[in-house]
Amino acid sequence: MPKPHIPLEDIRAQVEGCRKCTLADGRTQTVFGVGNPSARVLIVGEAPGKNEDLQGEPFVGKAGQYLNELLSIAGLAREDVFIANVLKCRPPGNRDPRPEEIELCTPYLREQTRTIDPEFIVTLGNFSTKFILKTEIGITRLHGTLQRAGKFKVFPIFHPAAAIYDGSKREALENDFATLGELLRASDAEQAASKAEQVANEAAKAAEPPQVEQPPLL
Ligand code: URA
Repeated sequence: MPKPHIPLEDIRAQVEGCRKCTLADGRTQTVFGVGNPSARVLIVGEAPGKNEDLQGEPFVGKAGQYLNELLSIAGLAREDVFIANVLKCRPPGNRDPRPEEIELCTPYLREQTRTIDPEFIVTLGNFSTKFILKTEIGITRLHGTLQRAGKFKVFPIFHPAAAIYDGSKREALENDFATLGELLRASDAEQAASKAEQVANEAAKAAEPPQVEQPPLL
């Protein structure tokens, strides 16, 4: 029997009360995630920064503004997707997440993913890509390539903050979000074609002449 999905509000309550690692001591508040609870696309960043810690929402700073622009390249609005992070609390001074923090915090992301049940997981940057794909291959090689993790399609993309510091990443980011839009449209077309085929098969079946059971010989 598959495990039942935990309602998002229950996972949020667990995150809000979490004191599993020392990041709890320095946080203003936890940053659970935001967006459509049954989103087709789950965006996974790294960890809250200063603005996110203050506002309790992921990607509200400069990187967040840029993320909104990138989403629109893929034909998505912020309200269409769900945005979460690997870590739910801000690491001091925005340092990198530590392996033990990732290990303690990611059960929340795992449950969020099971409950939201997206078609696509877009991993932003190295930390989320390595965690979701269980790989040591870096984002420079993986970005813009369609991968799989179990039932989920995974599409790694550079972290938007990387392009703010290094303008040469902008083009790759924008191309990858354009590709994401194409993948979404291709999947829509595939689903529409399969639905049309199902309807045609049902219609053909309904039009078949009725079959009389073999009568006994006279
Ligand atoms: N960077 C992230 O990875 N996540 C945020 O929420 C903000 C910045």
